[in-house]
Formats: sequence, structure tokens, C-alpha cells
Amino acid sequence: MAEANKTGLAVVGGGPGGYAAAFLAADLGLDVTLIDEQPNPGGVCLYRGCIPSKALLHAAKVITEAREADHFGVQFGEPKIDLDRLRSWKDSVVAKMTSGLGQLSKARKVRYVQGRAALLDAHTLEVRNAQEARKIAFEHAILATGSRPATLPNFDLNSQRVWDSTAALELPWVPKSLLVVGGGYIGLELGQVYAALGTKVTVVEMMPTLLPGVDADLVQPLHKRLEKQFAAIHLNTKVGSAKETKSGIQVRFEGEGAGKEQTFEAVLVAVGRKPNSEVPGLENTRVKKTSRGYIEVDPQRRTAEPSLFAIGDVAGEPMLAHKASHEGRLAVEVIRGSKAQFEPLAIPAVVFTDPEIAWCGLTETQAKEQNRDVKIARFPWAASGRATTLNRSDGVTKLVLDAETEQILGVGLAGPSAGELIAEGVLAVEMGALAKDLALCIHPHPTLSETLMEAAEALYGTSTHIYRPKK
Ligand code: FAD
Ligand code: NAD
Repeated sequence: MAEANKTGLAVVGGGPGGYAAAFLAADLGLDVTLIDEQPNPGGVCLYRGCIPSKALLHAAKVITEAREADHFGVQFGEPKIDLDRLRSWKDSVVAKMTSGLGQLSKARKVRYVQGRAALLDAHTLEVRNAQEARKIAFEHAILATGSRPATLPNFDLNSQRVWDSTAALELPWVPKSLLVVGGGYIGLELGQVYAALGTKVTVVEMMPTLLPGVDADLVQPLHKRLEKQFAAIHLNTKVGSAKETKSGIQVRFEGEGAGKEQTFEAVLVAVGRKPNSEVPGLENTRVKKTSRGYIEVDPQRRTAEPSLFAIGDVAGEPMLAHKASHEGRLAVEVIRGSKAQFEPLAIPAVVFTDPEIAWCGLTETQAKEQNRDVKIARFPWAASGRATTLNRSDGVTKLVLDAETEQILGVGLAGPSAGELIAEGVLAVEMGALAKDLALCIHPHPTLSETLMEAAEALYGTSTHIYRPKK
């Protein structure tokens, strides 16, 4: 056993929750040790999540835009895809970002320990790697161990043809046909990547819509586009049985999409993620878990064990990188004595498909479920000059407003760059802005951001670019 270390704050897990917490703690003068199995911080988000998927989605966007340029008289011909170079470019993006985090970690004098951590008690960790095992005594620890892909027993086939998101991001090959099980974030983002590379993609989703829970009018433009890009979209459908044959994975669907057996060259299972809450030795502490397996935390991200905090995917939904980072920074403030709580009004969510879908705050669906009296103000992108110059008038911007005060409670967007535009919505919701405030802020022309202003104007029947007088 290597010599024991002592630290003020131990952070277990180097993802966007863990490293954001460790870096802030170091900036504020705490003695910090960050532990992860990878050689550098980054976690799922950088190594096998947000960053590699967005790199591939960028390549997919270029391919699709080049194809669609024909519409305005520009022809490029069919793209030639060098899969090895695409893969190594994607890997270089990951390497650049993770090594950058390693340097930032060093510069801040965060002690980075590579290995797998186990809790010996509420103030001691043991970290093992191939070379050694070392004990680390800590005053406080933040558990930021993240999540992993959920699996389906049907696809427990021990086959190279059955992928989870990590395998799909490796770009093993471009299959002729791909079955995507799960029409959520991962299924649609990676489904679009493979469709752009030339794969015939079929999606099965057990619920009645793609991206269940997201407002239907925001999903519609994406659904329409996917109908053209994908071979088939089966809703209300599950996979009943699956087996490997010489030519691929043979499946039988159950539900609305049921029919003859079909064979796919590969299958991507994207049916959600599970929290990594089985931290070894957790049973040696008072930490509790929720019925869904998350580590139970209070609004300050404390667990039932006073020295231990939990943040990010392991501490509950939404499983998003920016939510993890925000919680990580909050936990550090709390450890330093702040009374702050995790109480955001608007956590933005972005599906990085084409078109992108983004929303924050109260959605129309939630307002209905909660019987809240709201007004909806909408602006169709067909009336946006900027959208038209981009040859993309299929988007929509909408505001969910308190019916009485016209305070902006939520914002939803569908269209290219929706993920960038939603930041204005977050600011509006968090600052308690009224529809009038958005209508009166001068927005640059011609930009897609004007659609937020014009949605607010539409509430009063005075949007410049749509004629819809107030009834
Ligand atoms: P993670 O990033 O999961 O990191 C946890 C780390 O802890 C891992 O490195 C793990 O190895 C380590 N660890 C676990 N147990 C131990 C242990 N005992 N000892 C030492 N280390 C341990 N979110 C977005 O906001 N935007 C996106 O565009 C986006 N795209 C995604 C695309 C894909 C394909 C996937 C899979 C996810 C995506 N996500 C996205 C979700 C995002 O990756 C997660 O929400 C985020 O990574 C959670 O951060 P975290 O810090 O909680 O944990
Ligand atoms: P998801 O929850 O987004 O989607 C899973 C989908 O699979 C759901 O629509 C669900 O109804 C469906 N499903 C579940 N079981 C099924 C079955 N047996 N047959 C058919 N359909 C089934 O999960 P995901 O796509 O795996 O992504 C996991 C999480 O990772 C996301 O929820 C999100 O938090 C995060 N993520 C975020 C981004 C982003 O921010 N852009 C991108 C990727 C992942």
C-alpha cells in the first residue's frame, strides 16, 4: 500500500461535475484531490459522450448541407468518407480537450490520482490502479461517479454488432443497416450521424412519440425530417426477440411496428442511462439511495452522511453535463459554508439533431399536467428572414408565459442553432423577464434570435413579420 494522503476535499469522478467542482475548490483555496480512472479529467462527457458525439454531428451536418446545397444550385457530388480519418479527427478533438483539462488541473495544483476509488469509511478512500493502492483521508468528498448505458436483456448477445453509445462513437464501421432501439437523445443524435454516413437507419421507440415528454410542436420538425432521412420510424414498438445470424441481428418487433422478422447489420441500444451509485464501500457510510438507484441528496447536494456530497448523473435527472457542473460548483460553495441551494428555474436541454431542439423552464406539456394557467406565444421560422436565407424555415420558437403577469416561464425552440439560442431563454426565465421585456429588446437583424423577440410581439398581435391580429 502506498503512503496515505490527506486532503481537504476528495472528488471521486472526473466528469464535468467532478472536474468543475475540483477546479472551483482549488480556485477558492481548498486542498483538492481528484480521482478518476482515465489519465486526464473528462468523464463520459468528454471521452464518450457530449464531445465525440458533437464532433460527429458536425461532420454529419456538413455532409447533409452539402447534399442540400443542390436546392440553390450548388452541387458537390456524393461525399467520399474516409472513416479512419473521421475517427482520428474525432479522437483528436477528445484528446485535445481532455489533455487541456489535465493541464488546467496541474496549473491549479489539484492532486490528480488515476485509479478506481472505494470508500473505507466516511472519511477515507482507497484508490487502486495497476501499480498501487493508496489510502486518502479526507474532510469532505464529492461523489461524481456519473452513469452508464442501460441495457436490454434481449440484446445480451455478446456480439460486435450490438452497440451501446460508446461503441457507436468508436465508428467501428458504417453498417448498411442499423436498428436504433430508443428514440431519445442518443438514438436520434447518433442515428442521424450514421444516416449521414450512408446507413439505412430504423428507429423503434416504445412510446407514442420520438423524444417522449418534449412538447410535440418542437419534435414535429425533426420527425418530419427524419422521415426522409431514416428508413423507418416505428412508434409504440418494442423489440420482442433478437438473435444473431450470419448476416446480422434478426429481430421481431412487438406493437405498432410488428411485422415480419428483420435483420440489421448492427443495433444501437439507446434506452437511457443508469447511475453509477454502486461505489464500492458506500455501504460503510450512512448514504441512502432513491428507489431508482440515484444517491439521495438534499437541495445542497449533501447525502445522509455529513462528510459526503453527490452531484451529476449519479445524483439524479436530468443527466446533463451543465447540470452536473452547476451542482458540483454549488456543493463546493456549501462545503465552504454557503447556504446556497440547487434551485434553478431553467435547466436548458438541447437535442443536437438537425434541426436542434432546445427548451428550458416550464414546458407546455408540464403546464398542462400541472393545470397551470399559461399563454403560449409562437413564432414560425417560415416568417424569419434569417431562416429563409439558410434554406431552413421549418423551425419554431415559443414562449410559455404566465397567463396573468406575462412572465416568461419557459422557452422552446426547434431549428438550426436552437441550442445556442436557448441561452437567451434561460436568462429571461432566471431574471423573471416579461414578454414585454423580450419584445422591447432590440435584436440584431437578420438573425434567428429575432424569433424570440417576434414570438413575444406575437403575444400582442404586433409581430412585424406575421399578420395575426389579437382577437
Ligand atoms: P460522468 O461524466 O459520467 O463522469 C463520471 C466519471 O467518474 C467517469 O469518468 C467514471 O469513470 C468515473 N468513476 C465512476 N466510478 C468511479 C470510481 N469508483 N472511482 C474513480 N472514478 C470513477 N450531456 C449534455 O449536457 N450535452 C450533450 O450534448 C450530451 N451528449 C451526450 C452524448 C452521449 C453519447 C452520452 C452518453 C451522454 C451525453 N450527455 C450530454 C450526458 C453527459 O455526458 C452527462 O450528463 C455528464 O457526463 C455527467 O457528468 P458527471 O460528472 O455526473 O459524470
Ligand atoms: P433517453 O431517455 O433520452 O431516451 C431513451 C428512449 O428509449 C426513450 O424515448 C424511451 O421511451 C425509449 N425506450 C426505453 N426502453 C425501450 C425499449 N425497450 N424499446 C424501445 N424504446 C425504448 O436516453 P438515451 O437516449 O439513452 O440518453 C441517455 C441520457 O443521456 C439522456 O436522457 C440525456 O440525459 C443524456 N444525453 C444528453 C444529450 C444532450 O444533452 N444532447 C445527448 C445524449 C445523451
